[in-house]
Amino acid sequence: SGSSKGAALVAAVAQRLTSLRRQTLSLFRLKEEQLQLVKARMRSGLDAGLRSKSSSTIKMLPSFVYLTPDGTERGKYLALDLGGTNFRALLVRFKKQTSRLYHKIYTIPLEIMQGTGEELFDHLAQCVCDFLDYMGLKNTRLPAGFTFSFPCEQSAIDTGTLVAWTKGFKATDSEGHDVVSMLREAIKRRNDIDLDIVALINDTVGTMMSCAHEDQRCEIGMIAGTGTNLCYMEELKNIEKIEQRMCINTEWGGLGDDGCLDDIITLYDTEVDQNSINQGKQRFEKMTSGMYLGEVVRQVLLDLTRRGLLFKGHVSETLKTPGIFETKYLSQIESDRLALLQVRSILQQLGLHGTCHDSIIVKHVCLVVSRRAAQLCGAGMAAVVDKIRENRGLDHLDIAVGVDGSLYKLHPHFSQVLKETVRVMAPQCDVTFQPSEEGSGKGAALIAAVARRKRDV
Ligand code: BGC
Ligand code: MG
Repeated sequence: SGSSKGAALVAAVAQRLTSLRRQTLSLFRLKEEQLQLVKARMRSGLDAGLRSKSSSTIKMLPSFVYLTPDGTERGKYLALDLGGTNFRALLVRFKKQTSRLYHKIYTIPLEIMQGTGEELFDHLAQCVCDFLDYMGLKNTRLPAGFTFSFPCEQSAIDTGTLVAWTKGFKATDSEGHDVVSMLREAIKRRNDIDLDIVALINDTVGTMMSCAHEDQRCEIGMIAGTGTNLCYMEELKNIEKIEQRMCINTEWGGLGDDGCLDDIITLYDTEVDQNSINQGKQRFEKMTSGMYLGEVVRQVLLDLTRRGLLFKGHVSETLKTPGIFETKYLSQIESDRLALLQVRSILQQLGLHGTCHDSIIVKHVCLVVSRRAAQLCGAGMAAVVDKIRENRGLDHLDIAVGVDGSLYKLHPHFSQVLKETVRVMAPQCDVTFQPSEEGSGKGAALIAAVARRKRDV
């Protein structure tokens, strides 16, 4: 009859739509072989970067951090932390094995993130001055650690030129300049405060250091937040001919900048890259970190909608707005504790009005995108721990990773998938993950303490 024919047609159309959506989502589902390839490529990138930085997408930057702190740190230190989205000034006090922390957060306006370098550093100096004033320390000269979460080519613990801005930063006249000098000069220009900047620190290194303080096995630091990166203790005999270890900031976010990930990069990733302020750069980071995951999701939703597979084919202004899906929304949408109606209401608050079925689809998109991110980081981590194990000629390695970042700490599944992937892909290593407490604050202060001790002997 007509109505059963109609029903069959509706069912056939629904099935066809479902299979088209599935095809799109399957682009993000990586097979074990693909992850093995990512691990192998990360490994060649690490090795190539150690041999010659210039020809590798993985920069492998020396940090000049050799020692782990020995617990005898005393006194007051400043930690200045320029991260993905804001600037934090901290005062860290070490007293008999314990430390106390005071801090203040300053937002960085977009026009300063993307203005001139001088304006940016003047702004940082202004924040430091405000903080010292607030703490009643304006007339002291405290030793300071500067946590600067961007790739720097260091030639000493307290000197480093910015290789390239990443994440949302693009201040002019900074790349190729020594960022410690830039901060010192900004402070000099003010002429009302004084600082003794003793160390320049990547956030991964600060994170590793703060965890190493608690756990001797911690020889890796990882950030899964606005950006992504990893550092680890490398044998110096692989670099120079000395029997010692130095922490290397890998800058692994650059994997794929030579096209080596093109076989897994989707058209959505390409779109995100094209819309970014550093096109062609940080391709691995753009598939794995908080600043970009929401954008990847948005590109998929846009495409599904344009093809009539979502939101009844209605492309809203909201959906066309970059940045609507911050990591915190992804975390909420993917939370297992949330009922579908709640997911739908989050989407509505974002201005995305759809049916419950639309909400299911959106949630699926979020799930595959963040799962892929965690698996890629897991594959990268597997490459690192196997490298360390081989470096040391071991059949089995026990190691801990200090880890920080909003994706790791706040996302409902990221950390789980990351750990599971490392377990499967590096079966000869036992990797313990330790969420860091105040990596860029306490870690930076510990490094500053060691740097000052070495300088003053
Ligand atoms: C930077 C790294 C940093 C990471 C996490 C990346 O964009 O290049 O230096 O460690 O973000 O903050
Ligand atoms: Mg940070």
